Amino acid sequence: MGSTGSIGTSALEVVRALGPSYEVAGLAANRRWPELAEQAREFQPSAVAVADPAHLAELRPLVNGSTEVFAGPEGLVELARRNDYDFLVAAIVGAAGLASTIAAVEAGKDVGLANKEALVVAGSIIVPLARQTGSRLLPIDSEHSAIFQSMAAGRRSEVQKVYLTASGGPFRTWTAEQMAGATLEDALRHPTWNMGPKITIDSATMMNKALEIIEACWLFDLRPESVEVLVHPESIIHSMVEFCDGSVVAQLGTPDMKTPIQYTLTYPERAMGCARRLDFRTIRRLNFEPPDMERFPALRLGYEVARLGGTAGAVFNAANEQAVEAFRQERIPFGRIVEITERVLGRHRVDARPTLEGLLAADAWARQEVCACLKG
Ligand code: NAD
Ligand code: MG
Repeated sequence: MGSTGSIGTSALEVVRALGPSYEVAGLAANRRWPELAEQAREFQPSAVAVADPAHLAELRPLVNGSTEVFAGPEGLVELARRNDYDFLVAAIVGAAGLASTIAAVEAGKDVGLANKEALVVAGSIIVPLARQTGSRLLPIDSEHSAIFQSMAAGRRSEVQKVYLTASGGPFRTWTAEQMAGATLEDALRHPTWNMGPKITIDSATMMNKALEIIEACWLFDLRPESVEVLVHPESIIHSMVEFCDGSVVAQLGTPDMKTPIQYTLTYPERAMGCARRLDFRTIRRLNFEPPDMERFPALRLGYEVARLGGTAGAVFNAANEQAVEAFRQERIPFGRIVEITERVLGRHRVDARPTLEGLLAADAWARQEVCACLKG
């Protein structure tokens, strides 16, 4: 899901490198049908789906006659419900990835989860559902993959805390005043990772780390206070786990998503990786600093939302998605992304035990509130 994106294309690169024991059963994207058609030609999946139905007519003649073609958001859900696959890579950006992820979890499929927004919105639905159906949620997000791998060094009850590392993004050393007026180009210049535009902007506000705090709480059943954000500008240590005896176990690697993607595909085994290796002879030093909650208020919000639970995650995520979209369209300055998200969150009355419908309603409400903020 999201095969034409940054994670999607890296996942296909991994599949290519892993060889013929891995087959691609389905591919889905939003609008980039020429790329999707090209991928379908190479990987010959049994089905493809395009989320924007306007492109169905263009896509169909380009794929093999034996490949089924689905369209629209329901088409992606149909694809996820098929029984001719056993592992779903959830790499759609934003809450748009929620429905197909839930469909796969419902069907008991194992899921490699890059789409952190799905957990932020609906961790309260997805995590218990996965437990019920036996679906395994394997993290693709590099920090969560590192935590997952480090946790294997002890028992769950022996985990004292988790260090969630952050590069600090392009504005790590900028003042609040400089950041307030940062341009789109500034925000898209990430120092260490090459990613899709939404997560790159989230890294600049550190909203990405806020979403990851919540993601970690859901994936590893952690309390927010046991997740400590640590700025590590080199992005070599991808995160760490501290155990009760004082031992800290970390996972390291070059900043290349192919490594955590591949681990979800081969888990619990490992296979020869295709990403560049770390060369410790060229690494002079690893730096660490505490995050600046004043300049990056998104982090404070992330902890607050993780503690609030209920519908707070859905509102927080949707408001941020809309605000990021407005920034990308140059309708608001960089500094307003988090301000608007905080304002919308502040206006929300949290429902502590929402249904999926309740979460989707909270998401829709938050998007409308952002639109109202933009007009007012
Ligand atoms: P991207 O923008 O490069 O790709 C997004 C993909 O989702 C594309 O294939 C697009 O066609 C599809 N898509 C977008 N909107 C859709 C919709 N409404 N319906 C169906 N498909 C839709 O994004 P990305 O950087 O690959 O990120 C994907 C997810 O992975 C995000 O949740 C992101 O936070 C997470 N993630 C990415 C990275 C990274 O290195 N890129 C690292 C960690 C986590
Ligand atoms: Mg990450």
